[in-house]
Amino acid sequence: MHYPLIIIGAGLSGLAAGIRFARFGQKSLILEKHSVAGGLNSYYYRRGILLETGLHAMTNYAEPGNRHAPLNLLFRQLQLKRRSFRTHPQFSSEILFCDQASLRFSNDFGLLSAEIAASFPQAVDRFQTLVRLIDGYDPFALRPWLSTRRILNDLLAEPLLSDMLLCPLMFYGNSTEHDMDFSQFVIMFRSIFQEGFFRPAGTIKDFLDLLLAHYQEFGGDIRLRSGVDRLIIDDGRVRGVCLASGETITCDYLVSTIGYPGTLRLLGTADPETIKEAAGRLSFMEFLYLPTKEEAERIVDRRTIIFYNQGAKFEYCRPAEAVDTRSGVICFPHNFEGLPLEFPCQVRVTHMANYDLWKQASTSAYQEMKVDWGRRSRRVVGKIIGNSLESNLFEDSFTPLTIEKFSGKDQGAIYGSPMKIKDGRTTCPNLILAGTDQGYLGIVGAMLSGVSMVNQHILGKD
Ligand SMILES: Cc1cc2nc3c(=O)[nH]c(=O)nc-3n(C[C@H](O)[C@H](O)[C@H](O)COP(=O)(O)OP(=O)(O)OC[C@H]3O[C@@H](n4cnc5c(N)ncnc54)[C@H](O)[C@@H]3O)c2cc1C
Repeated sequence: MHYPLIIIGAGLSGLAAGIRFARFGQKSLILEKHSVAGGLNSYYYRRGILLETGLHAMTNYAEPGNRHAPLNLLFRQLQLKRRSFRTHPQFSSEILFCDQASLRFSNDFGLLSAEIAASFPQAVDRFQTLVRLIDGYDPFALRPWLSTRRILNDLLAEPLLSDMLLCPLMFYGNSTEHDMDFSQFVIMFRSIFQEGFFRPAGTIKDFLDLLLAHYQEFGGDIRLRSGVDRLIIDDGRVRGVCLASGETITCDYLVSTIGYPGTLRLLGTADPETIKEAAGRLSFMEFLYLPTKEEAERIVDRRTIIFYNQGAKFEYCRPAEAVDTRSGVICFPHNFEGLPLEFPCQVRVTHMANYDLWKQASTSAYQEMKVDWGRRSRRVVGKIIGNSLESNLFEDSFTPLTIEKFSGKDQGAIYGSPMKIKDGRTTCPNLILAGTDQGYLGIVGAMLSGVSMVNQHILGKD
C-alpha cells in the first residue's frame, strides 16, 4: 500500500495536518497507536460519563469577524466554518500568589493592565514597554534561545510581577525548567493574556468528531490501533513505515507528531542516551473531581481558572517530591459564558510532578501515592476555593506515567522536549516534525503546527 503522505499520530496536530493535505484532493493516512483519536487531548468514559483527559480551555479566543486572529486563520486553512463553531469565552481567571498579590485577567486585555496598575503602580510604564516589545516581536523567526527571565528582570525590575506573569504561561506551555524561551513567552502571552480562553460547545469528543468527519469527507484515511514501530529509510529518505503488526506501508512524505525523542527512536539512528537527553523533564499530575449534586451547588466560585503559588518564589521545575502542591492550576470547566451549571460538573487540578518517583514506585505504592497526594492537593486547593472537594460522585487522577502511556511523550513530558525543532526539519528531507516539539503548544498551537508544516514542506505554500 502506498500514500503520498503518512502522518504518525492522531493528536490535534496530526488531524490538522491531515485535513490541510487532504483538502487539496491528495490521499493521506493517519496512523494512531491508540483506539481513540486526540492524543493528549482525548476522552474516556466512567459510569457512562464522558471525561476529558486534557481540555481545561482553548487559548487564542477571537470573535469570528477578526480575520487575522490565529484561531480564524486556522479555521480558514482547514476550510472549517468558524461561524458555526460555537465558543464560550471565559468569565475571568486569576493569578493568585497567596499572601502576596493577585491579578485577574479576562479576554479583555484591559483587565490585566488595570490589575497591574492597581497592584504594581510603580511598574505600569515598564509593563507597557514590555507589551510594546511583545507587539512588535516576530516569535516565528528562527533565532537562538533567549532567556525570558533576563528580559523581564531588565524591563520590569519587579520579581514578583515577573513570576506572576510567567506562572500561567509556563503551566500552559513551557517545556524548559526555571526559564522560558522569549519567543515561546511571546506566543503564550498573546494567546492567553491578549486573546484569552474559551471552550468549544460540547466536549472535546464533539470537537474531535468534527475534525475526523471533515478529514474523512476530504478522502483522508485513518487507522487506529496502528502503532508505528520503525521507519524504512533508504538513501537518506524515508520510504515508509513498519507497523507493530509487521505490515509495511510506503509513502512520499512522512509527518511525525510523536515528539522529537520518539521520532529519533523510530529512525533508529540515535543512541538511548541521546534520546533520554532530548526528553523533557516537566510532567504534571492532574486530579479530576465530579462533586455530588449537593456539593456542586455549594461550589459558588465563578473564576474560570486559578493559577496559584504559595512559595516565596514561583519555581517551575521537576519537583523533589512526587508532586508539588505549592503551586498549581484549578479549573472550573463550567465557568464559561453561556454554559449552564449542569450536573455532573467537574473541577480539575494540575500540579508539577516528578516522573522518576512515580516510575520507581511498586504497583501498590503507586496507588497509595495517588491517594496520599490527592489528600494533600485537596487540603491546599480547599483553602483557595473554600471547598474541600471531599464529596465526590467520582474522582480520578493522571500521573506522569499515564501521560507517557497515552501520548507516547517520553517521561510524560507534557510539553515535550526542550529542544524544539522550529523549522520541523529532520535528517531526512521528507520526514517532517509537527506538533509539540516543532514548538507550538496547546490545542490551537498544535493544530497551527500541523497546518504550517504541511504548507511549508509539502504543499510549498506560506
Ligand atoms: C492533562 C492535560 C491538560 C491539558 N490541557 C490543555 C488545555 O486546557 N488547553 C490546551 O490548549 N492544551 C492543553 N493540553 C495540551 C494539549 O493537549 C497538547 O499541547 C496538544 O494536544 C498536543 O497535540 P499533539 O498533536 O502535538 O501531540 P499529542 O496529543 O501527544 O499526539 C500525538 C499522538 O501520537 C500518537 N503516537 C505516539 N507514538 C505513536 C506511534 N509510534 N505510532 C502511532 N501513533 C503514535 C499518540 O498516541 C498521540 O495520539 C493539555 C494536556 C494535558 C495532558
